[in-house]
Amino acid sequence: MNRAISSSETAGQLASSCRPDDNELTTPGTQPQGSAIDLQRIAQAVEQILLAVGEDPNREGLRDTPMRVARMYAELFRGLREDPRRHLEKCFVEKYDEIVLVKGISFESLCEHHLLPFVGQAHVAYIPNGKIVGLSKLARVVEALAHRPQVQERLTEQLADLLMQELEPKGVAVILEATHTCMTIRGVRKPTSVCTTSAMRGVFKSNLSTRTELMSLIYGSK
Ligand SMILES: [Zn+2]
Repeated sequence: MNRAISSSETAGQLASSCRPDDNELTTPGTQPQGSAIDLQRIAQAVEQILLAVGEDPNREGLRDTPMRVARMYAELFRGLREDPRRHLEKCFVEKYDEIVLVKGISFESLCEHHLLPFVGQAHVAYIPNGKIVGLSKLARVVEALAHRPQVQERLTEQLADLLMQELEPKGVAVILEATHTCMTIRGVRKPTSVCTTSAMRGVFKSNLSTRTELMSLIYGSK
């Protein structure tokens, strides 16, 4: 019987690295950007937006807004200057080879089409192949990849591919459920809509019963 672990890391013997060889396997689009965020440039752009909509950027309530928005973008896009692989460098040798699932990891990201937030939860599972990683690291990887201009579909795939590369497990499953404010507060305005995406790798893709077991761990058996 597989088991979903929701807290406390199972720490075994420390493995030197999750990657036995140093093949430079990379997931496209996940590499960190070199340059720092140019706060001044964002602030100037925000001031231009305020002018363009007919506002007065010098009135009291808006005076600090451009720089405040600049700092906000620096925070929301902090994942651009972070290599998500660093969270997966420390692994532990462990015989456990059933499903490890961390479900309900809350995340927030910005859709790259409108720069509006989409927020939801991630369910991340893998089946170890000799080594495990600290459970909180799975949430760290979600954070690092979510804090960039994103689309939910790509975020889902990047998470699955990165975990496959770095942990070399028997399988990885990533399911994201999110509400996109570009759909709820503008455009078609469907406030109750939720978008679900999934990426299955390894045994989660090839073995129906493993996938069924995962679904019952996440959603309960129907
Ligand atoms: Zn959008």
